[in-house]
Amino acid sequence: LLSRESPGSWVRFHPDINSNWRRRNRLQADLRQAVARGELLLNYQPYVSLKSGKVAGAEALVRWQHPELGLISPADFIPLAEESGVIHALGEWVLQEGIRHAAQWRQQYLSNFVISINVSLLQLEDARFAEVVAAILATYHLPGEALELEVTEGLALRNTPAIDSNLQLLRALGIAIAIDDFGTGYASFSYLRRFPVEKLKIDKQFLDHVPENESSSNLVRMIVAMGHTLGASVTGEGIENIQQARFLARHGCDYAQGYLISRPLAPNALEQFLAAARPLQLQP
Ligand code: C2E
Ligand code: MG
Ligand code: MG
Ligand code: MG
Repeated sequence: LLSRESPGSWVRFHPDINSNWRRRNRLQADLRQAVARGELLLNYQPYVSLKSGKVAGAEALVRWQHPELGLISPADFIPLAEESGVIHALGEWVLQEGIRHAAQWRQQYLSNFVISINVSLLQLEDARFAEVVAAILATYHLPGEALELEVTEGLALRNTPAIDSNLQLLRALGIAIAIDDFGTGYASFSYLRRFPVEKLKIDKQFLDHVPENESSSNLVRMIVAMGHTLGASVTGEGIENIQQARFLARHGCDYAQGYLISRPLAPNALEQFLAAARPLQLQP
């Protein structure tokens, strides 16, 4: 099989590349029907306040239960959904399902529970996005304060009228915007001025060697201080041990999320977690 890689030059596909490419095409075709066939599911990963140690909310993380290939991770299909445009239907399903669960959990377990939902930039570029979000919230009688939308730093690079008006309407509804994987993207400070955000989520890679690594620790303290200066709260992602959580608490970071608190859970398992959860013990 031959492929045109750049104008005027042909390269021969390695067999592995060929089979990867076939898998990609198959997944992309199957993904079109996955939403309608009910093959998507959400897991929920709780996060805690570092002031109280108590659960503040949970992040919805999508998975795809493929009938033949088994469980597929979002890292493998979100890019395909973005390429084909399926991301709009998929993203709307995630919002609907996440908000439905959040409404139930606020009634049954935690009245100030916040649901955090990842959204693709392509969704934010859709002129009707904020109206769709508002309609779903209204369906479940949920206030905007119960919802937080996580976007990646790529937001920096785009500056379209649709994104601006969506962000304005979302803010007017009381919905918080969080920058996901903070520090890994095109960290330009100008966008933080253009788009004020409510939360920064420090990427796991900066926290992996905290507190023993001094330069990581300094960088994390700097991001916390910067977030607070901007009027944003700050979350540490990928927190796997209590030393990391205590370091963050000591330095005023607001929230922690990671396997220390819990892995992403199926809805019924999250309910058990909410019913049983005791505050994270932050004092040594
Ligand atoms: P993310 O939003 O940064 O989510 C955090 C990822 O880190 C999740 O992987 C989570 O399972 C994993 N994680 C959390 N705590 C720990 C920890 O302590 N240790 C380790 N090793 N890993 C941890 P997951 O579920 O595979 O999601 C990957 C990415 O896919 C997400 O990264 C997010 O960018 C994207 N994604 C997930 N759901 C959606 C969705 O509904 N829509 C969109 N557009 N993207 C989504
Ligand atoms: Mg996220
Ligand atoms: Mg993240
Ligand atoms: Mg991350």
